[in-house]
Amino acid sequence: MNGTTELPATPRRPVESRDPATGEVWRSFESPDAAAVEAAMTAARAAQPHWAAESVAHRARVIERFRRVLFARRHEVAEVIRRENGKPTEEALATEVMITLDLARFFARHAPRVLADQHPISGNIGMWRKTMTVHHDPFGVVAVISPWNYPFMLAAGLLLPALVAGNGVLFKPSEYAPSSGLLLAELLAEARLPAGLLHVLTGDGTTGAAVVEAEVDKVFFIGSGATGRRIAQSCAMRMIECVLELGGSDPAIVLADADLDNAASGIAWGRFTNAGQTCTAPKRVFVEDAVFDAFAAKLAERVRALRVGPGAAAGTDVGPVIRPAQRAAIQRQLDDALAGGANILAQAGGASGGDFFTPTLITNVTPRMQVMTDETFGPLLPLVRVRDADEAVKLANESRFGLSASIWSRNVAGARRIAARLQTGTALINDTTLAAGIAELSYGGVKESGLGHTHGAAGILSCARTRAVIADRFAGFRQPWWFGYGPRHAADLDGFLNFWHGRALGARIVGAWRSMRLLFFPERPV
Ligand code: NAD
Repeated sequence: MNGTTELPATPRRPVESRDPATGEVWRSFESPDAAAVEAAMTAARAAQPHWAAESVAHRARVIERFRRVLFARRHEVAEVIRRENGKPTEEALATEVMITLDLARFFARHAPRVLADQHPISGNIGMWRKTMTVHHDPFGVVAVISPWNYPFMLAAGLLLPALVAGNGVLFKPSEYAPSSGLLLAELLAEARLPAGLLHVLTGDGTTGAAVVEAEVDKVFFIGSGATGRRIAQSCAMRMIECVLELGGSDPAIVLADADLDNAASGIAWGRFTNAGQTCTAPKRVFVEDAVFDAFAAKLAERVRALRVGPGAAAGTDVGPVIRPAQRAAIQRQLDDALAGGANILAQAGGASGGDFFTPTLITNVTPRMQVMTDETFGPLLPLVRVRDADEAVKLANESRFGLSASIWSRNVAGARRIAARLQTGTALINDTTLAAGIAELSYGGVKESGLGHTHGAAGILSCARTRAVIADRFAGFRQPWWFGYGPRHAADLDGFLNFWHGRALGARIVGAWRSMRLLFFPERPV
């Protein structure tokens, strides 16, 4: 193995499950050493061919059993996520458990069809004596590396299609959510996933780098752009593929004809759910001048009404952010905006201190402020006044990100036209944030927001390598394009082109005869 030499022979510092609402560390794990990563790879390599030899329908049944197990243990799963991640239990049930149930159902139902062999028919008559089959083979053993913000659902969205496509997996959950990752694997084991196929390697970025370099056959990664770039470089050096789902700074465009109450409620939820730590949240809101003041007042009212507190407390809307470093990063962005002349329009009350960050709405922002140029991964939202929809589109596209976007308008046809002008992987009209929440929809970003797709049929296909087999129906047939070049061959070939692609009737009739000669009686075949 190559990169595992980067890991020390003895275990590194442990990773911890910590409740961000209280700071309590409730579980801790040894990080794997080099030998553990190597052993995981060896075991996965041994188990994977048996799994790949099973039918897709068989593998899909395991995923369907996983869905049933998850449903039965849903409250326990939501509680582990809440305790490790800070989000309200209700949110864990909706955005982690429910979406994972949907993903499991989609992959179990549709993988057999999506991964079935295909039999294309060539548009060239010269190929009609051939059969063609496109197979979808697993890559082998793939890496899945996931972040902490939706530690269960995002990891499941990569793991389940990788497994149903017949791969073995080395899974590196975030060092800030190891228990959520381990629980996912435990549920799959309960669903009778064969032993040895899936290995959870709890550890930090060093473990992640070692997994990428452990001679895996493809890497599926969700996380920051900085890490994504390192992984892409590593994959390029080994000439293997990677799928990268990275950061975003999604625009929301509120047009003058929007239902302002609805837009304010939707944007408040989209931005502040999961304490603002959502890749596809609205992070820059552009509002048409005519309704700016009315909309700002409605949004401010909703921000002030948010109840901030521990995710375990009934009625909490916004929990803590994941850890002190995250809180400090958001504070730096707020300080930068305030130093540049931004104003705080509204803040929520409730818990403060510790890892809580008060949801904050700001105005008077300028394009060079960090809240506009960088990703803001926390409950802080800038509002920008724009002349009209054209200016909104221009400013929305002035970003290095292109993950998702939302448009708020009563004119859905007009909003669709605006969606077509936005540089984004997903656009939502009169809703926001749930780009990764619909199992059937392929999901991915443009620009610096990522490479490739997850979810939907595209997400299944990205877990398989296509292999084509071309077979002549009859053995012993000499192909007309083999050697035997000469004046007659050249004339027959030109006749074939006239017959198949030309427009002049006479030339096509002569071409038909020459085609017969080319295909069935080639001169002087070698
Ligand atoms: P991160 O990049 O710090 O970490 C993500 C994972 O990569 C972790 O498991 C980490 O241990 C691992 N890692 C770190 N260094 C590594 C290396 N050199 N090689 C291999 N693995 C390594 O990201 P994060 O802070 O956990 O997550 C937040 C970021 O993720 C935000 O930018 C957010 O927008 C993004 N995100 C994107 C999506 C999406 O679908 N596009 C979804 C959720 C989060």
